[in-house]
Amino acid sequence: MKALYPGSFDPLTFGHLDLIERGCALFGHVLVAVLKNPGKTATFNIDTRLEQIKNATNHLKKVEVISFEGLTVNCAKQHNADLILRGLRAMSDFEYELQIAHTNRSLNSLYETVFLVTEAHHSFLSSSLVKEVARFGGETKHMVPEGVAKDLRRLFN
Ligand code: ADP
Repeated sequence: MKALYPGSFDPLTFGHLDLIERGCALFGHVLVAVLKNPGKTATFNIDTRLEQIKNATNHLKKVEVISFEGLTVNCAKQHNADLILRGLRAMSDFEYELQIAHTNRSLNSLYETVFLVTEAHHSFLSSSLVKEVARFGGETKHMVPEGVAKDLRRLFN
């Protein structure tokens, strides 16, 4: 089976990576899809984010990384995905994720959203928190893959 894992990944964290690895173990293939969102100003451009994810998932043979625009369900159809994969860190994620999952089902009932619960030690991680830490000179090596940590240092130093 092929799971589509859509998101901003601005940037990729160990929480995202954990989800990709567990998605591979469960479903076989994971297609990581970086959303080109015109409504959100990104910190890292699309090419950088694709590169960061490709480098961090090099060891996983069944991972593909793409960018997409528009509706997630259309991306799933175009790439022959079987389901949509998302992560849940805390109750605060739940309402937003529920809304997106219902919306996607209303647009195309073929696509179920499967949620994986975050590893407890990654549950505090978010892309925005990581950027906040890096902006103030904090260490991010335990939060993001090495390549991303380097990119963050370069950006904020
Ligand atoms: P979006 O802007 O679409 O929410 P994100 O990159 O923030 O994109 O998140 C993509 C998905 O990864 C979401 O389902 C989110 O809940 C999940 N996610 C984010 N951080 C973590 C984490 N630390 N552990 C597990 N899942 C996470």
